[in-house]
Amino acid sequence: MRFPFALSAKIAGHIIKHKVRKTPRFAMVLQLEPLHTCNLTCTGCGRIREYSTSLKDMVPLEKCLAVAAECEAPMVSICGGEPLIYPKIEELVAGLREQGRIIYICTNGVFMRKKMRDYLATVYSPEMEAKLQELLKQQLVTEKEAEQIRNADAAAKSKVVIRPNQWMYWNVHVDGLEFTHDLIVEREGVFKECIAAIKMAKILGYQTATNTTVYKETDVQELEDMFKFLSSLDVDGHTISPGYDYDAAKKDMVKRLGKDPKEFFLTRDMTRQKFAKIEEWGSLFTIFGTPVYQEFLAGKRELTCTAWAIPTYNIKGWKAPCYLMTDGHYDGYQEMLSKVKWENYGVVNGKARDPRCEHCMVHCGYDPSGALGTNYQRGDNWKNFKYNFWPRPKPFLASEELTKRAYNGVSIGKGHLAEAKAAINSPRAAMNGAQSVFQRRDEEAHAGNGNGSCGSGDTTQRDELLAKIAAAKKD
Ligand code: SF4
Ligand code: SF4
Repeated sequence: MRFPFALSAKIAGHIIKHKVRKTPRFAMVLQLEPLHTCNLTCTGCGRIREYSTSLKDMVPLEKCLAVAAECEAPMVSICGGEPLIYPKIEELVAGLREQGRIIYICTNGVFMRKKMRDYLATVYSPEMEAKLQELLKQQLVTEKEAEQIRNADAAAKSKVVIRPNQWMYWNVHVDGLEFTHDLIVEREGVFKECIAAIKMAKILGYQTATNTTVYKETDVQELEDMFKFLSSLDVDGHTISPGYDYDAAKKDMVKRLGKDPKEFFLTRDMTRQKFAKIEEWGSLFTIFGTPVYQEFLAGKRELTCTAWAIPTYNIKGWKAPCYLMTDGHYDGYQEMLSKVKWENYGVVNGKARDPRCEHCMVHCGYDPSGALGTNYQRGDNWKNFKYNFWPRPKPFLASEELTKRAYNGVSIGKGHLAEAKAAINSPRAAMNGAQSVFQRRDEEAHAGNGNGSCGSGDTTQRDELLAKIAAAKKD
């Protein structure tokens, strides 16, 4: 089956229950943001910008569990910020499991291996040595870390940890192959770390997924290569969604990067062009999301936004109307459902009810519409059933060529900006140091390959830096 039977059955049961009860609006996925602190500053991230004044605040564990119980969504996506920074993340995952939820931990991947070493320390016994040896062989743990796992003390052994579980997914943020991803997250080495974490997770029996945002500069061929590469690692599923130009991200783009948001975010027409092959990808890879939503993305039909089905809870309350746009926060989910004028949002038959919704086709607004049968067309239920319950596409074979295409950048563990600034301050460093990703891009552009499709979204600042580096080298 494409997705585990128990999970698909649980979600189907939830929808049927509410259809029978004729519940007008109900939650499918809770987007739970226990904090907005993050170790990265990705280009285009609205969260760390919109909530920049409350980055140190956190939702208490008990409140997180209470809101999950309150909205009764079968799935909880723990996001943020970076949820692995949340001090009670292990207890939160355990508590949500006790409530019977399907859990996605949406992470940038940087702290995943640390969390999995914590898990290993609690379960290590000589029978686990073969797995540990495999991790060592693939350089996913160091000899020192392996020793710490073997010799864990009582405190380490009794820690609450995140265990592999068929109801839990690591959902790793991957926006492209190495070069693109590291540019978007504005730090080198992150792609390599994500892939290492995914490999380690697979060896230890965790379920893994990825989530990808598509921007104007995203290259479609690169996306396909990315899916092939992830499939060769046996990743269990992928969420893919067009980028949305929410206000905070737009303002940041103008102020910090000196970039016009129109160059970065997709219009509806552009989204349809980028997603023209989404149905083909759906047949080749384990793409999350209904085939109905895929048809919508490909421009084959219209859907009406059902943002209330993927509500967001964060330090300020229930965020309305959706994950992206903020017109208010409410104390309770039912209160939000009853007070928000839902008929004022979304796009209906191509006409935006709110101008801010005009270009939005994001997964958190429209994917539930496909599952819930809004804009139902004959055959939709069968399509959705078949997609979920049919066999899973076979993984792509790993190959040297695919790996080479995936690691197409430079990972030296320094931030792009730090490196570029150092290069400006010291032309010698630029000449002698590790080959700069900026310099590399420059060479590609001069070789005729630089068609601007790397998907970085950071070209203005990068180009300025490139020009300065080039000028410094000439002097
Ligand atoms: S990792 Fe996620 S929360 Fe952190 S900056 Fe990037 S997109 Fe935002
Ligand atoms: S269309 Fe829906 S999900 Fe998109 S911005 Fe508008 S309310 Fe939010």
